[in-house]
Amino acid sequence: MARYNGPVCRLCRREGLKLFLKGERCYMDKCAIEKRNVPPGQQGKARKAKLMGYGLQLREKQKVKRTYGVLENQFRRYFESADRQRGITGETLLQLLECRFDNVIYRLGLATSRPQARQLVRHGHFFVNERRVTIPSYSLRVGDTVTVQNKSTKNVSIQHAIEEVKGRGIPDWLTFDGEKLSGKVSSLPTREQINLPVQEQLIVELYSK
Ligand code: SF4
Repeated sequence: MARYNGPVCRLCRREGLKLFLKGERCYMDKCAIEKRNVPPGQQGKARKAKLMGYGLQLREKQKVKRTYGVLENQFRRYFESADRQRGITGETLLQLLECRFDNVIYRLGLATSRPQARQLVRHGHFFVNERRVTIPSYSLRVGDTVTVQNKSTKNVSIQHAIEEVKGRGIPDWLTFDGEKLSGKVSSLPTREQINLPVQEQLIVELYSK
């Protein structure tokens, strides 16, 4: 499947926001946003002008897409699915994205970033309800259990991630047993539990035109 292969810090600089795409580096002074929070390109500084209307809506959509590593067509399908469901569309959209398998692995602290979580999922290191799942976009439901497969408990990347993200905490809608390396979706995330500084209503407005 197609995906963005360019420099990822550039994406953060474009949005003027930490998207946490590089794992531990994102928490260091080396982070490009900490060092130089200017949009990329020769006209970078000029692009910092205040956005309004369509421009603002577009940037909010790009922030969310890039945070979860989802491309346009798939993102639109998430929106259409959220739009069909009851409740607040923008919030449902974020809920659907949070429940992606790769995101849950990242949130549980079994990977240092969502891109790393995606790779580990593809390599078959995790089970969902005791069945191996290798699809990063697989949607988890309340009650689903995620475990690290036996052979992978000593995996260097997973062990490193566990050490690295200790102390950062796990969201309230997930539970994690550090000894068994197993997590559970205990509820759907509420908007307050989704730590993402975006105005999702603007995305709804963008797609509702
Ligand atoms: Fe974004 Fe992380 Fe790069 Fe910082 S280090 S700019 S948060 S990807």
